Formats: sequence, structure tokens, C-alpha cells
Amino acid sequence: MRRLHNFSAGPCTLPLEVLETAQRELVDYHGAGMSLLEMSHRTPPVEGVRDAAEAALRRLLGLGEHHHVAFVAGGATFQFAMLAMNFLTNGRLGDYTHSGAWAKKAIADGRKIGRVNVVWDGTPDDYMTLPDPASVSSSAGSQFLHLTSNETIGGVQWKSFPACEAPLVADMSSDFLSRPVPLERFGLIYAGAQKNIGPAGVTVVILTDDMLAACDGDLPGYLNYGGHVQNRSMLNTPPVFQIYMVKLVLEWLEARGGLAWAEQAAAERSGILYGVLGGSDGFYRCPVDERYRSTMNVVFRLPSEELEKRFVAEAEAAGLSGLKGHRSVGGIRASIYNAMPVAGVEALAGFMSDFRDRNG
Ligand SMILES: *Cc1c(COP(=O)(O)O)cnc(C)c1O
Repeated sequence: MRRLHNFSAGPCTLPLEVLETAQRELVDYHGAGMSLLEMSHRTPPVEGVRDAAEAALRRLLGLGEHHHVAFVAGGATFQFAMLAMNFLTNGRLGDYTHSGAWAKKAIADGRKIGRVNVVWDGTPDDYMTLPDPASVSSSAGSQFLHLTSNETIGGVQWKSFPACEAPLVADMSSDFLSRPVPLERFGLIYAGAQKNIGPAGVTVVILTDDMLAACDGDLPGYLNYGGHVQNRSMLNTPPVFQIYMVKLVLEWLEARGGLAWAEQAAAERSGILYGVLGGSDGFYRCPVDERYRSTMNVVFRLPSEELEKRFVAEAEAAGLSGLKGHRSVGGIRASIYNAMPVAGVEALAGFMSDFRDRNG
């Protein structure tokens, strides 16, 4: 089999070792005589998978007893609504930062449920920059301050975080577990798995005691964070296989050296690509403010859309897949999450230099 270098923004490349383990374990899970895909969730093997996934997450992030973990279906998109329903009902207020396409969706759903205050808006700068975190503060009485730690489409990433009165809530979908974070500032973190830690179909939610206590208790069962936490993500039939894949990816990450390794590897991968952009005499242009360039999604433009089309087609033919920018913004986007080997990035860098030589 010829395995492509997959630069897709999500679902994205997974570690080959993880795919091979899943393949080996697929038909007969650890001698159970059946596949995990066929097994009741009320059984020791499935509960074991859930426990191991949560335990790995707790070790990686250093979560203590005041943090709760839930594996929820519905993607990060569902969290836009679930978050608002739990914390913004009954006229309550939430602060949001508007950093791009994903923040915009979170804000729109927030507004349908409660009062929303946009404390920083990147619209005038086309979402190419972020505020100095020290300049961001929360409103009086606000339940949380929401931010999108990495804008997957725009390629803009918070490098450090506000220290404001209200707890931070973060959509970390596209840079979750790519670096250490100051956990004590966050009340709730959510991340759809398919960007950095697994396949689509499960979202990790981490929240504190305080946030749990502030949830709207009158919500229907599935919408309430409390129900998921109390039932240890088995409120209903959970996406078992997705949680299993997350477990394998987290254990893979841990074996590599955890978040310190991830941060260093992300710096190396993104450094190679930004180096090629910077050294291209303007042939490749990254529109993002240098201070906030993403280590996960490297976006850039070529001198014309025609050249961009050719770039994507020739890259594809060279085994470099998924480089087309998001349809809403165009251009090129190389997504280089935890599972992207440095060799993949080096192959892309080589292709970029060659392409420029031929077309510059
Ligand atoms: C992909 C993405 C989402 C949406 O994820 P789904 O799981 O498809 O709902 C939300 N936020 C960010 C930052 C993303 O990258």
C-alpha cells in the first residue's frame, strides 16, 4: 500500500501504529470472541476502554479530582449549543472572542440561548490577528469567556491565554493536546476528536467542579453535562469505537513524551513550513500576523489562483494530499497535527521549493 501524506484539516491523518493496532484488534477484541463494534457498552471490556481513555487524558493533562471528563457525541458543533444551554439559560451572560469562522458559529449559537457579549472582534482585520491576551477581560457577571484556541480555517492560534475574572471556555478542537496549557484558567475545554486525537464522532469535554455546579439542571437528559459526568459517558450508548481510537492515540502520544513532545514536534513541523514561506521572496505569502501563526494549520497564498490550483493538483500527484484551503477562504492549507511525521512536512517543503523554482 502507498500511504499518502495526508494534510487534511479533519478528519486527518492518524498514527500508522494506531491504525495497525486497531486492525489487529478489530475482529476479536483481546480474546473476547467478538469485536468491540459488536459489544454491549455495559461490559468490562468497553468500560475498560472508557476508563483507559480517561486515565490517559488525565495523565497527559495532569487533571485532578476537581476536573471531570465526558466523551460526548455530536462533534464540536454540538458543544456550541450544549455550552450555551448549560450556562446561558435564564438570561445569563457569556463573553466570546470572535477570532474567525469557528468562533462565529459558537457566538451564533450562544445568541440563540442567552446573552452574548463579544469582548474582542477580529472582523476588521479579516481574522488575521488576535488580541494581546493581557488586554482581554471578562464582563461583570459573565459565566465564562469563550475562545477558539486555534482557528482551523484561518490558521490563527492563541499563544498564551487571558487571565480574566471569568473562567475560560475553549474550543480546542484543532490544537488539543498539542502543547501544555494553564489548566487553572479554564473552566471548560472541548475538542472534537477528528483534528488531533482520533476519528470523527466523539468530542472530549473537560470541566471543573465549579462549572458543573453552574449547569442548568432543567435541561433534557442528554443536553446536561452533569448527566454525562455522573454516568461516566455511558448515559446512553456512547461512540465506543471512537473512544477506543482516542484511547490508542492518547497512549501513542504518551509513549512519545506527551505534551512536551507534542509542543516541540509542532514547533519543528511548523518551523519548516514557515521557513519555506519566509524564504520564498514573496512567492508564497502567509496572511496571518506572525505573532499568532498556527503550529497546526499553515495557510498561505500563491501569486494567482491559477497557480494555487496547479499547486494542489501537482502536490496530490506527488502523494501530498488535502492541501486545498477551506472553500470559504481559498488558498492553500497544510494541516500538520500531532500524527503528521516530520518526514511528511519535509516532503511538502521539498515540493514547495521545487514548485517555486519551476513557476517563480
Ligand atoms: C472542526 C472544528 C469544529 C467543528 O467540529 P465538528 O466535530 O465537525 O462539529 C469546531 N471548532 C473547531 C476549532 C474546529 O476545527
